[in-house]
Amino acid sequence: MGIAEELGLRVSPGLRVVALTGAGISLESGVPIFRGKGSMWEIPEARRLAERAGPPWNTRETWEYYEWRRGLVSRCKPNRAHYALAEMERYFEDFLLITQNVDGLHAKAGSRRLLELHGSMWRGRCIECGRVIDLPETPLKALPPLCPCGRPLRPDVVQFGEPIDPVVLDAAFKASKKAELFLVIGTSAVVHPAAQMPLIAIEGGARAVEINPNATPLTPFMSLSIRGRAAEVLPRLWEELLSSALG
Ligand code: NAD
Repeated sequence: MGIAEELGLRVSPGLRVVALTGAGISLESGVPIFRGKGSMWEIPEARRLAERAGPPWNTRETWEYYEWRRGLVSRCKPNRAHYALAEMERYFEDFLLITQNVDGLHAKAGSRRLLELHGSMWRGRCIECGRVIDLPETPLKALPPLCPCGRPLRPDVVQFGEPIDPVVLDAAFKASKKAELFLVIGTSAVVHPAAQMPLIAIEGGARAVEINPNATPLTPFMSLSIRGRAAEVLPRLWEELLSSALG
């Protein structure tokens, strides 16, 4: 039996699909995760710089930490999992990609129907006038970078304990509620409210598939859990779903 049949899904361009991604999808691109083995905290320089960064997040010290991260990510390329999601977006008419990642790799792979829940390390935000400025180049010429209003920018990244933009959050919850297929990829599912989205989708009747080498708190609720690495599993899953649609 194929995966679509196993899930009881009829795959067609009209199927409503939502994918939620976390740091695990970018690990194979070389971006370190936040928890456990292979995490950023195993790198002494990252720890040292992170300890000096902090509220109000618009200081030279914060940007030294972010420039270290931006430098690392600028050398990373999207992997096959990022590209599979961009292909899915082109096939499904009602598709949304919700990411907790701030690395910009989904956009680099071509994803456009994309909600960046936690913002992006490639933008700055002014805490005085609220302007959001693209900062695609690293290294930056000056630290901290300045807003056109003359004040220092902070990274446009949601820090632990800070609220997510309510407009972004509302769009993510709305799409989750009406999803028919919900993919949970490379997230430890401990950061809220992202971890609630698959549960809301399941409550609404969605079939949910998790792709992660490890079990997570969401695993017991999944229709299907595939233990493996996103860059291997997701392109295979997508190929299988597509072939079930074609024939
Ligand atoms: P996390 O670090 O808590 O968990 C990563 C998950 O990925 C784990 O469950 C792990 O088992 C899984 N994983 C490891 N290798 C994998 C692979 N090859 N394929 C699929 N899954 C794999 O990450 P999180 O749940 O995203 O939460 C951490 C928070 O930190 C997020 O809010 C995010 O904003 C931030 N963060 C972002 C980045 C990034 O932008 N790339 C990196 C680190 C942390």
